[in-house]
Amino acid sequence: MPIEQVNILGVRVHSLTMAEAVEQVETYIDEKKVALIATANAEMLMRTTEDSELKDILNKADLVVPDGAGTVWAANHLGHAMPERVAGYDLAQELMKLAPGKNQKIYFFGSAPGVAEKAKAKAEELYPGINIAGLRNGFFTEADEPEIIADIKRVQPDILLVALGVPKQEKWLNKYLQELNVPVAIGVGGTLDVMAGVMERAPLWMQKAKLEWLFRGLKQPSRAGRLIALPKFVLKVMASKGK
Ligand code: UDP
Repeated sequence: MPIEQVNILGVRVHSLTMAEAVEQVETYIDEKKVALIATANAEMLMRTTEDSELKDILNKADLVVPDGAGTVWAANHLGHAMPERVAGYDLAQELMKLAPGKNQKIYFFGSAPGVAEKAKAKAEELYPGINIAGLRNGFFTEADEPEIIADIKRVQPDILLVALGVPKQEKWLNKYLQELNVPVAIGVGGTLDVMAGVMERAPLWMQKAKLEWLFRGLKQPSRAGRLIALPKFVLKVMASKGK
């Protein structure tokens, strides 16, 4: 059965639970279907209103999960059920948990030099037997791209986690995913930073109180300006209702 999609500011976001998202991703891997997966939070959805390339990529992505309380709120406000938030970080953890039992290979691409190595060590501690078969930091020039592509092709991962930030990770994947021929690629933003302990995740109570966005804004002053995206998003969604 096709997964229901909800139109939020012109982007089709899938309405599904974490368990359903994991099942869908595993199906793509089993079928060796090349699939681009995006995790849409309010900031990303806001960005699509000024970046039509990003909007087009999301609308043709195979799966766009509702990453964040803002996305779930928007769907509900527009009159659609959205069972729960499927955060990119959590989705990546669920997939890594299953990977050893399924003999899957994972590739970490992105984040600052040294971070992916630390994230790999953390993954090996959390998920014994996991095969993080390739690593590449996310700072490169166009001239480095052939080598990066060749390495991913050589490793042939089942899952490629791309942490280059929004919208770089989505645009990079859109350009190269078919050529890479990797079943599943997911843009995961700061996931490797969190795993490496470079960036803290909000405490559980704050996540439950739907305040993760506030925590991130306060912890990283450089991001504080990005906090304004949230009220802007709320207003835009409200204005879009009934249109
Ligand atoms: N990053 C990267 N290459 C770049 C720019 C950023 O690898 O050219 C990494 C950065 O080190 C961080 C991640 O991309 O690990 C972006 O994380 P952020 O939390 O900003 O993600 P967003 O909220 O933009 O998805």
